[in-house]
Parts: sequence; structure tokens; C-alpha cells
Amino acid sequence: MYYFAGVDVGGTNTKIGILNGEGDILKSVSIKTESIMGVDYTLNKIWETILVLLDELDIDRDVIKGIGMGIPGPVIEQKKVGFFANFPWEQNVNISEKMEKISGVKTRLENDVNVIALGETLYGAGKGFSKSITIALGTGIGGGIFIDGKLISGATGAGGEIGHMKLEKDGKLCGCGQKGCFETYASATGVMRETLSRLQMNKDNSLYKFIEGDLNRLEAKHVFDEAKKGDKFCLDIVDYVSEYLALGIGNVLNIINPEVVILAGGVALAGDILMEGVKEKLPRYALGITIENLEIKIGELGNDAGIKGASALTI
Ligand SMILES: [Zn+2]
Repeated sequence: MYYFAGVDVGGTNTKIGILNGEGDILKSVSIKTESIMGVDYTLNKIWETILVLLDELDIDRDVIKGIGMGIPGPVIEQKKVGFFANFPWEQNVNISEKMEKISGVKTRLENDVNVIALGETLYGAGKGFSKSITIALGTGIGGGIFIDGKLISGATGAGGEIGHMKLEKDGKLCGCGQKGCFETYASATGVMRETLSRLQMNKDNSLYKFIEGDLNRLEAKHVFDEAKKGDKFCLDIVDYVSEYLALGIGNVLNIINPEVVILAGGVALAGDILMEGVKEKLPRYALGITIENLEIKIGELGNDAGIKGASALTI
């Protein structure tokens, strides 16, 4: 029996797990990333943590057949990282080679959202499908495209960056420096931005009462919660967000034509109140043939999607 290590490298924390070949997590732990200590320190610490987990599980290190890592940045050929979002590390570092030197174990990497997409497709909401798109609706919008057993990472690692698909000409300014990106409208940040701007004009709503007039307390989740209770102001915002979600998803459907769309991340937890609007509006943007048998599902693996998907990179 062989085992695999799955590593989900995040800005603050890194989640590390030991898994079997079926994606079952035998044991996992979360450690501080400490990227400021440098790439070599970080990789050594990850390997030491893997060894501790193996020890606790009483598994010999010889039966670890691979290390898979999800990385916050564009990954080229599952080995090199173009640049690290938020880390003070060099560009174009071959992390795979470095980790293999430290551990003696085959190591492969992918972008962190691509790894979530792989996890959900193989072991979660996309199980049994061979063509999926996973959209992670969080602070930004990330995407992972999986076609016939392969993730589409692209020539320079930017494949699947659907959050920066343009939905408006000269639209809202995005963190990427361009305007009108999908994520400025339908991410948690986008929801907050739209809500704050509307609250300047309209304070007669249950959301404003809920946050007791303190705009600093506002979270995207509150908007969906108050909408579920029937607040008209929040229902209008949900309608606005679902329109952009339908437009963004529709564009992707027309290009990729997947069997299933998996929505992950915090905004996806809004559930039916958001999804009903998306499903109703989708026929306006997606070609009929792309939605005939389409399934739209909410991600099932939560925070485990990353290490599950990462572990599958070396299987
Ligand atoms: Zn952008």
C-alpha cells in the first residue's frame, strides 16, 4: 500500500496531510507558513512535518510515493512557480526540484485553486464527471478547469483565471490593475463593495439595523442572511450578484462546455438564495446546448479540497 502527502500552502497557514491513493485523509495538521523565513526553510519545515505525521501513523517513509503541493501563484509544468502571490520569494523557482532534493520523494505542484478543483472533481462534488469547472468564490474569484483527466494550467500557469474575465468595458477597478473583472462583481469583496455603496444611499433596511449602523462590521455573509429573511434591500443585491454570476458562468460554459460547474468558497455557502437566481438567468448568457444536461453543484470538501487535490498530483 502506498501513501501520498498533500500540502496546501496558504498565505498564513499551510495544511499538510497524509492520504491514501483514494484521497482519504489519514491525518492532517496546519502549521504557520512563515514565508518570511525563505523558501528553503519553508520546504524543510513541510518535510519535517510530513515525517512527524508518518511517525504518528506508524507509516514507513519508503511507502510515501509522492508529495503534491497547492501554491498561491501560477505554476508551470507542475514544477516551477512563476511568482508567489504575497510571498517575498524569487520568481521562477523550481519548487519541485528543491523539495525532491530535501525529501527524496517525487514532488508536483499546481496553483492552489487548480488543486481545489482537482480535489472536488476527483473526490467531491465532481466525482464521476470528466469535464468540470470549479469556481472558488472567496475574497477573489479563482477557477480550475478539468478536462478528460487533466487540469488546464496553460503555458505560463494562468489557465483557469476566470476571475479576471471581463464582464464590463471600463467597469469596476480590480486588484489586477484592469477594469471590469468578474471578481469585482461576484466575489465576497465585490458583494461588500456594492453593498457599502448602496448603504450610503439607503439606510432603511434590516441589514443596516443588523450591523447597528457600523459599516466596519459588514460581512458578505450578512447580506445573504438578511436576504433569506426577506429584506428587499439585500434581495436586490443578491439579484445583482446572481446576474453577474450567471454572465460569468455563461461565458465559461460557452467556451469549455463542461458537464458540471462546482461552486466553492465562502460566497457559495449562500446556497439556494443565490443559486436560484443564477439558474434562472443563465439561459440569457449560455448557449442552450451547454446547459441541457449541466449540473451546478456546491463544493463538498470545504477546507480539505486543497490537500486532497494536491495528493492526487503524483498518483
Ligand atoms: Zn482582474
